[in-house]
Amino acid sequence: MRPGWAAAAGSAAPSAAAQNPETPAYQALFPDLYAGEALRSTVNTDKVAYLTFDDGPSERTPEVLEILERYGVKATFFVTGRGDGQSLQWMRETAEAGHTLGMHSCTHDYSEIYASVEAFLEDCDGLSTLILKATGQRPQILRFPGGSVNAYNAGIYQELIAEITRRGFVYFDWNVSSADAAPGGPDAEAIAANVLDGGADLRRAVVLLHDSAGKAATVEALPAIIEGYQAMGFTFEALTPEVVPIIFGYAG
Ligand code: ZN
Repeated sequence: MRPGWAAAAGSAAPSAAAQNPETPAYQALFPDLYAGEALRSTVNTDKVAYLTFDDGPSERTPEVLEILERYGVKATFFVTGRGDGQSLQWMRETAEAGHTLGMHSCTHDYSEIYASVEAFLEDCDGLSTLILKATGQRPQILRFPGGSVNAYNAGIYQELIAEITRRGFVYFDWNVSSADAAPGGPDAEAIAANVLDGGADLRRAVVLLHDSAGKAATVEALPAIIEGYQAMGFTFEALTPEVVPIIFGYAG
């Protein structure tokens, strides 16, 4: 059970925040930024791989969608806040194909979004509204840029995680990194090898990939990743709020 889980979500929270001087003022902000009913994580299945694509949508997104379609694989896309018509269309097509859209942040600007809990909530509020506009549904899951515990949110991550969880969102880190965002840009072969090596001994794999514009090598690696995981006995699922999350431990 994670901190704040039992108290997650509920439209009564803002008024409760106003009445209790111990309650942070940000709890009353952004009243639409809730994930709905509190959900208990119950899905904890063996040999399941969750492919996750961060930082899109971009021109790579339809290429990824085409490959996923070809293999009959569902995946998860943690999107950024691109509000142009083409990007909204890509988000819509992603959702319509049965994949999950989650929040990653509008700006992906670490110093901005991790300046305070309020700043992060404001960013998410904008992104939630954008995803609603694109797909007709608000997101229920998110991935923190840099992961839930990182060098940029060291001063606020416990408070931030508690508040995001109180609002009913489920966040996912990862336990397999493709390292496709590493400096120098590894080629497709290296990306596939990272993912296959990383998942070899796991019963559940949450795989970090990117579908931002510069990630052509990730697209190229995808068939080998899917076929390699299938050969290891994995099936593929999209993340939902019911999936027991893979999360980083709190730092010291
Ligand atoms: Zn990112």
